[in-house]
Amino acid sequence: MIISTKKGTPQVELDRIVDNFEKMGLSVTIIRGTDYNVFGLVGDTTKIAEKDVLANPWVENVTRVSAPYKRANRLFHPQDTVIDVRGIKIGGNNPIVVMAGPCSIEGEEHTLKLARAVKEGGATFLRGGAYKPRTSPYSFQGLGTEGILDMVKARTETGMPIVSELMDEVHIPEFEAYVDIVQIGARNMQNFQLLKAVGKMHKPVLLKRGLANTIEEWIMSAEYIMAGGNEQAILCERGIRTFETATRNTLDLSAIPVVKEKTHLPIIIDPSHATGNFKYVETMALAAVAAGADGLEVEVHDNPQCAWSDGAQCLKPDKFAEMMEKCRKVAAAVGREM
Ligand code: PEP
Ligand code: MN
Repeated sequence: MIISTKKGTPQVELDRIVDNFEKMGLSVTIIRGTDYNVFGLVGDTTKIAEKDVLANPWVENVTRVSAPYKRANRLFHPQDTVIDVRGIKIGGNNPIVVMAGPCSIEGEEHTLKLARAVKEGGATFLRGGAYKPRTSPYSFQGLGTEGILDMVKARTETGMPIVSELMDEVHIPEFEAYVDIVQIGARNMQNFQLLKAVGKMHKPVLLKRGLANTIEEWIMSAEYIMAGGNEQAILCERGIRTFETATRNTLDLSAIPVVKEKTHLPIIIDPSHATGNFKYVETMALAAVAAGADGLEVEVHDNPQCAWSDGAQCLKPDKFAEMMEKCRKVAAAVGREM
């Protein structure tokens, strides 16, 4: 971190600044100019926020030279993180994983039927929401525990591990017992209390990018989970809010190379929430595979018109299988299996 002070800053203020940072365990190098002074801070500056330094009226400018995250930072962990879920490896050069299933779990029979269908199409995980973050309080809120148990039955029959969204800390024991990957939804990406709680869990966490969050804020949220001791963070880009209204969100595919450069964590793309329209899902899934995604999360429903949520973006099982077929070809072209 580099800090410059204003012209005419008294010596006593300069000494105080140095003293403060040294007390924080940082070493401070001063470059003295005729009018201005520049301080170079060396050490762990992750605890220092630029805006707090700027609270000192003698400080002119603050520049961070290293990222504010440590555990997620590729600089300190050059090799890709690989997460093992019941023998399926996510990240590195492992085969691209696919999490597929309905937006909301709609009962045992239906879940089994869809689980068989997506497995047939080549899915590696069954996804499904039992606790749903709905914009309207009057919309279907999810089957709760019953939905989680429906997914467990589908796992027993198909062998596919299950991915489901956690919205409230009170459900952590249930998720520890039954769920293989804990999803933190876009709306909770900065629910820091929840992030701290999943940081104490013993399950991988699929952290979706917030509706209007920068990549750095998203990585900082992964850092919360990792700082709690849970190193098994997986990032999921699901589209962000822009001025564009032709799609539900705007898929930020450039997040793939950026996340891979800055972190060692696996990245999954969700083309369903990103586009909000089944017609565009396949195209964006192909693009994600070409761009180096470690996996996809795709909503699938046998009767989208009657889905309990997000029907407009659900692929029917036959379309999902077609998409998978094409994705495998793209994966092979970029040197990945799927
Ligand atoms: C979901 O996966 O069903 C979901 C609600 O996703 P997001 O948090 O990305 O909107
Ligand atoms: Mn959904």
